[in-house]
Order: sequence, then C-alpha cells, then structure tokens
Amino acid sequence: MNQIVTVHQYLRQQQELFGDELYLNVATTNKSEKIQQGHDLLSLESFEHSISLCQKCSLGKSRKEFVFGVGDPNASLLLIGEAPGEQEDIQGEPFVGRAGKLLDKILNAIDRNRNKDVFIANVIKCRPPNNRDPLPSEVEKCEPYLKTQIRLINPRLIVALGRVAAKTLLKLDIPLKDMRGKIHDYSGTPLRVTYHPAALLRNPGLKQAAWEDFQWIQKYIISNS
Ligand code: URA
Repeated sequence: MNQIVTVHQYLRQQQELFGDELYLNVATTNKSEKIQQGHDLLSLESFEHSISLCQKCSLGKSRKEFVFGVGDPNASLLLIGEAPGEQEDIQGEPFVGRAGKLLDKILNAIDRNRNKDVFIANVIKCRPPNNRDPLPSEVEKCEPYLKTQIRLINPRLIVALGRVAAKTLLKLDIPLKDMRGKIHDYSGTPLRVTYHPAALLRNPGLKQAAWEDFQWIQKYIISNS
C-alpha cells in the first residue's frame, strides 16, 4: 500500500513539474535490492533527479544550483536547515559556508559526519535572493519535497536547525527557546529543535546550550539503534 502511495505521489510530482509527459529515470539498483535495503520503490537519488529542474516558484529562475541535500540515504539522523546561502547555491550542497564548517565540527564531536549516518537538507532547495527569509509561498511549494525526503530516509531522529525549520516542521509560531529541550513528534518521527549554526556564530554564548543538545542527540541515536 505504501509503495502505491509513493508511486502515486511521484507521478503527481512529475505531472506538476513537467505536465503530462512522463520522464522515467532508470534506477541504478534493482527493485528487490532496494526493498531489501528497506527503501521505498522510489530511491532518494531518483527523487532528486525528478525534482532538480523545479520551477514551481521564482527561485527556480534565480538559483545557480538546486540544493537537494547531502549524506547517507539511510541515515539515523536528519538535520534540516533553512535555505541555501551564497556558497551552497554555487556548490549545490547544503551548509558549505561558515555555518557549515561549524556544523561539520559539531558532527565530528558526536562521531559523525555528512556521509556517516547523517543526511543534511533544507526546508527550501533554492537560494532566496540576498539570503532573505523564505516566503511562506516558497515554503508551501517546496515543503512536499522535504516531506518525501523524510519518508524515503526514514530517520530515527530529525533535528530542526533554527526557527525557520522548526516553525515549518512543527507548524508552531513560538520562540525557538520554547521549542528546545523536548521531543516533538513529526508524523511519527521524533524531532528535536536546536540553534542554527549561523546563530551560534553570531552569538557564541548559545554554543553551550547547542552542545548539550547535540550530546543528547548522540545519546538518543545510540540508545535507539
Ligand atoms: N543555512 C542554512 O539554513 N542552510 C544552508 O544550507 C546553509 C546555510
């Protein structure tokens, strides 16, 4: 049943993107291998190919690169940021600027990295001009992509980095400090909220709290694997 829903959703996304022409991706592994690996019929890789030419909002015109996300498609830990910045737009990978370097250090400290049991994505996949906040209409159009990523990765824990990600995922318009420190539920997947690495660069006084969050995250993943 799940697979029928996935195929249906994929076809609807294709139709929205490309109209009634159907473009098929030839998968790199066969179906039975994917099912053995616990994947949906649709792989993360073919999903990326299917949406990477998206023009559902005006950011499709201004972007240099579509920033799908990076990491292990079977990751236990899914980190979700806000939107690509200048460097991410150039390189096509999330969190590669200054904030990204700090995130890499934090991940290292919990014995992980962007290719080891972690996947990193953003709420929206294209850079907003001058790094402005994503518009609600952009979030609305892009969020279905994130939802499909979450379903395909099926992480043990989602971590929202910063208020934009937390607000989008939890549909809560409250201060970030009130969302921290508890386990939220995202359609059956536990979700924690912590500070965005860019906020830690702006305000190093928040680093201790963020470090406590990531220590909790490390323990949670170990004890739930
Ligand atoms: N900030 C984000 O939220 N995401 C990125 O990819 C880079 C900076």
